[in-house]
Amino acid sequence: MSAQNEPSFRESVDLMFSRAVALMDLPPGLEEKIRVCNATYTVRFGVRLRGGIKTFTGYRSVHSEHMEPVKGGIRFALGVNQDEVEALAALMTYKCSLVEAPFGGSKGGLCIDPREYDEHELEKITRRFAYELAKRDLIHPSQNVPAPDMGTGEREMAWIADQYARMNTTDINARACVTGKPLNAGGIAGRVEATGRGVQYALREFFRDPEGMKKAGLTGKLSGKRVIVQGLGNVGYHAAKFLQDEDGSVITGIIERDGALVNAKGLDVDAVRNWIAEHGGVKGYADATYVEDGSKVLEEECDILIPAALEAVINLGNAERVKAPLIIEAANGPVTAGADEILRKKGTVIIPDMYANAGGVTVSYFEWVKNLSHIRFGRMQRRQEEARHQLVVDELEGLSDVMGEKWSLGDGFKEKYLRGADELELVRSGLDDTMRIAYQAMRDVWHGRDDVEDLRTAAYLVSIDKVAASYRAKGL
Ligand code: GLU
Repeated sequence: MSAQNEPSFRESVDLMFSRAVALMDLPPGLEEKIRVCNATYTVRFGVRLRGGIKTFTGYRSVHSEHMEPVKGGIRFALGVNQDEVEALAALMTYKCSLVEAPFGGSKGGLCIDPREYDEHELEKITRRFAYELAKRDLIHPSQNVPAPDMGTGEREMAWIADQYARMNTTDINARACVTGKPLNAGGIAGRVEATGRGVQYALREFFRDPEGMKKAGLTGKLSGKRVIVQGLGNVGYHAAKFLQDEDGSVITGIIERDGALVNAKGLDVDAVRNWIAEHGGVKGYADATYVEDGSKVLEEECDILIPAALEAVINLGNAERVKAPLIIEAANGPVTAGADEILRKKGTVIIPDMYANAGGVTVSYFEWVKNLSHIRFGRMQRRQEEARHQLVVDELEGLSDVMGEKWSLGDGFKEKYLRGADELELVRSGLDDTMRIAYQAMRDVWHGRDDVEDLRTAAYLVSIDKVAASYRAKGL
């Protein structure tokens, strides 16, 4: 089929939404209310750079305010446009609802190639964009809370937080105006790797679902499974690294901007990442075969395919040739609606974006709560927890005297058992719990309803149901 038939990203999200609501019993008015994007603000602003004035275009779109604040990242990329930002904002609504992060959906973007600017220039541009948004409450702890996305990270979030604080000098909750900040500027442990960690937890939970595994034609454990990842940015890198280091999966392919690397025996994710940092691309990396047309590697044999880069990389043009039995959408919208249809017919299981990459916003939620409570997680209870564990250990070891034979608990056990949870452990526990519960909700719909063929539809059903309930509770 020609690319002309390919629905746009926004149309894809709409089509997927329609497929799900067709199976629901929503009043048509409410269906439309949930579908539409409430508002999109477009701003053009000038920044004095390199002896001239350069004009930038940015967006912040609010899809649904059934819960406030609304939440979603800000991306810096040349391809940013209103349609894309609106589609991404809609996905945020469904994503937050699915993982029970109490937010409406929003997204922002700035048309810029961040690699063209130095740090000082980027700071000027980011602060100016933040000023424009904050002025209109599109950055605000109780109204709209951005986060990192493609092309942005901790550094940009710190600038945004500081810009907001300068404009709202007496707001005690100023730090909660944005998430994904560095730890020393109000961030939370584990946020940087949260989305990749969430992908790992999602896969672990999928591998605990025998019926789902059967549908994908997979058996066994994550260990030894062949994984191809597209994009070694923040999300792809962490997902691949954790799967390799902690689950024993074999990363057989890494696709990047300038081509791909393949090695059936496995690629060392950290070594490839370091190579890219030094050389600007994967080409020349010694321990692998280099494939110039990276997109071809999406079609290679593997057990799990992780598109973690751009939208629409699996489309009408290549879906038929994609061999992976399981695709997990670490990026937003990597599979078009047309490709989704083809893959569904082939029996490919797709773990959808709104669930697969929800780890980011989940930990953002924890960060926001931390900022509002003005205290690090675990600060009050950690030592008390340790003291109680010590009591148990002392009591048990004391029993050995009573029993007349002297023994003590193993040092390894004691060390692990006695240590109270710090913030990072609590964040991981909260994220794991969130990913498990959300999967189980989707799974029950997927396996329990004859009219639901796939996890994406199940995800939409679970999520739209909650959004609808919240609108109904408001009297709509
Ligand atoms: N940009 C991320 C996403 O698309 C994170 C959003 C957030 O933390 O608010 O889910």
